[in-house]
Amino acid sequence: VTILSNKWILSATEIDTFKTCRRKWAYQYVDGIKPATSKAAQFGSLVHGFLEKYLTGYSINYDTPEGRVASPGLHYLPKQLPKENVERQFFFKKHGIIFNGYIDFFEQLGSQTWLIGDHKTASKLSSALSNDALKNNIQANIYAQWAFVEKNADMVKLRWVYYKTQSTPKALCIETDLTKQEAEDNFSYIVKTAEEILSIIKEKPLSASLPKNLNACFKYGRCAFYSQCKNSSGTATFVKHPCSPKIKEADLSLCHDKATSFHLFIDCVPVKNSSNYERTIELSELLKPVLTKIQTEKELSHYRLAGYGQHVGLIANYLSEHLKNNAYDNRTAILSSSKTPEGCDTLQTLTAAAGQVVRGF
Ligand code: SF4
Repeated sequence: VTILSNKWILSATEIDTFKTCRRKWAYQYVDGIKPATSKAAQFGSLVHGFLEKYLTGYSINYDTPEGRVASPGLHYLPKQLPKENVERQFFFKKHGIIFNGYIDFFEQLGSQTWLIGDHKTASKLSSALSNDALKNNIQANIYAQWAFVEKNADMVKLRWVYYKTQSTPKALCIETDLTKQEAEDNFSYIVKTAEEILSIIKEKPLSASLPKNLNACFKYGRCAFYSQCKNSSGTATFVKHPCSPKIKEADLSLCHDKATSFHLFIDCVPVKNSSNYERTIELSELLKPVLTKIQTEKELSHYRLAGYGQHVGLIANYLSEHLKNNAYDNRTAILSSSKTPEGCDTLQTLTAAAGQVVRGF
């Protein structure tokens, strides 16, 4: 895939995955194979949904599984926040690299002091980070850096609230302060890792050529790529050009559980007689309403005029929103290209949202 380094948007999860196991990172972020969402992660999303409503003052039903798990942690949260301070997607650029993420909640505490909070669901509270570990945590530092870069903060209070999901509900709050200088020192490690990721992406590696970390296979339950990785003979898992539906069944089983989302074809098209797609949408077609919205809301005749480093985040933001509101399902094939500016700028957002990704080379 042709991706210029400044077009790749990095998240804390991607950097964490890369540090955990490079092979796993490549399956997920280079090949675009999405592991099925675990039951624990699905429940975590319900708890997040409940807390989002609580923080923004919506009426909620406490007598639900997610309400019961969330309740013990509510006193650690701000009373009520504006909608834009909750589940907020952010982008910022530092050292030429674009970072993004979703902050669960944030609030301005003083002229240059900001609170950044995160909800964590866990089967046991002993897995919570210590205060020191939180200060050095990759996710916490990327989130805090957003406040230093975009909000001119000089101090960030990090508040990680843990909610116990098994047996009796309980919560734990871990807090630490991060000064701008501490964050700067920590960020050099993140930038070094990010640069490593970007240089590997430029080399267009075969996933099976990247090193395994056998110590990580059962770190968060069994790794979703375990069987594929164990039997890997060193061959690539993605489809070679010309694009054909010859994806091995084992590979397909790694895709999203229900595979309900659209299929993305990059630099290739579905084979005619083997595809059951009701709609085939070219990227330019898909982007039309998104560009119109950017034009109206941002008063920009084209998103690329938002300025160097800003336009990728801008289109990613609006496109994610559009995909969320339009639920393109697996009867839809979206055709994109890694060779056009629009294709490059939207590649990551589309890959993340697709139920299946097929690449031509
Ligand atoms: S099975 Fe283990 S070595 Fe293979 S990708 Fe997963 S974590 Fe890495």
